[in-house]
Amino acid sequence: MYHMIKRKFFPLHFFVPHGFGDLIAVIKMKSTRGVGAKKPCHQCHIEGIRDETGTGPKARTYYIPLTVPGAKENRYEKEILQNLRTHEDYLKVYYRLDTARSEADREKIRKETGINRASIWSLLPYFDMGRAIPGGYMHAVCINLMRALVSLWRGEFKGLDAGGGNYIIPAEIWAEIGEETHNSNRWMPAAFVRSIPNINTDFGNFTAEASAFWMMYIAPHVLRGRLPEPYYSHMLDLIRIMKTCTKFGMTRKEHTQLSEDVYEWRLEYEKYYSQYKPERLCTMTLALHELDHLPDDILNCGPPTALWEFVTERSMGEVVRSVTSWSYPFSQLANTLIQREQLKVLQMMYPDMTDSLNYTKSR
Ligand SMILES: [Zn+2]
Repeated sequence: MYHMIKRKFFPLHFFVPHGFGDLIAVIKMKSTRGVGAKKPCHQCHIEGIRDETGTGPKARTYYIPLTVPGAKENRYEKEILQNLRTHEDYLKVYYRLDTARSEADREKIRKETGINRASIWSLLPYFDMGRAIPGGYMHAVCINLMRALVSLWRGEFKGLDAGGGNYIIPAEIWAEIGEETHNSNRWMPAAFVRSIPNINTDFGNFTAEASAFWMMYIAPHVLRGRLPEPYYSHMLDLIRIMKTCTKFGMTRKEHTQLSEDVYEWRLEYEKYYSQYKPERLCTMTLALHELDHLPDDILNCGPPTALWEFVTERSMGEVVRSVTSWSYPFSQLANTLIQREQLKVLQMMYPDMTDSLNYTKSR
């Protein structure tokens, strides 16, 4: 590797302690099958349940309810926390896939284990396939969970009504909530968050940052008296979890409290939204199940603020926006990356010119 500032070659050693990303990236990293597999989770061996009352994609997807409809006990302790996939489990499956006698046998192993093939990451001698790839907090919580909850409260979640609950907020109240959300921008210091769209008319344009900020700092005010109990208090419990997760550090005591809070919140979520009914299994998504592993992920890899995908997504967004050619997108992408790194070197060599050398395309 060549050091541009010192102008000499040096041996570059680097280690990848963790891998992280959205659910699709994690599935690719681990070479697992995801929602189409009977064991859809890459962190534990829990078996998913299909909605056999439905049709279409809903009927083909494996969901992860804590309590299987009709069962008396939930599966949190035995089938999730005490049933984690270890590095050795991954290696054993790779060996079985390697030594399978036919493609049909291999397919049987894939279906049974949810693992498609050996992951390249397992070749790193120090890399723990069971622990080193945590769930993606930004996608699981700030995007998927936020969208699911707001869609549920709007009565627009996968065609479900409120069932035996009463959590749906009428459309005219959502119009008021949207206006109040939009009007709050003028009082919000720019250092806190970028401008937040109207959640009623422009929810599709909510970024992870906007969703997380809305939930943690705006929703408690605009939903008070509008989202009925016990759903409102349940939302406040989630905000407490999010505030603990977004701290830059976490004490052992806070971590113990967080583990208890996540467990309680998940049980209540199931009670309020899935209501233990087979036809409402679609509320128990794989992204929601990532919350079950959040306390362990924090122990293994650190608090979400140390690993979350905001930084990667921001960087990838800049790169993607710079590619405009339909004919040669990949060569343009390669050029963009080279030029970006060259600019970074120039910024390091001439710190006074950092601003004038910043050619990043903003949104
Ligand atoms: Zn799991």
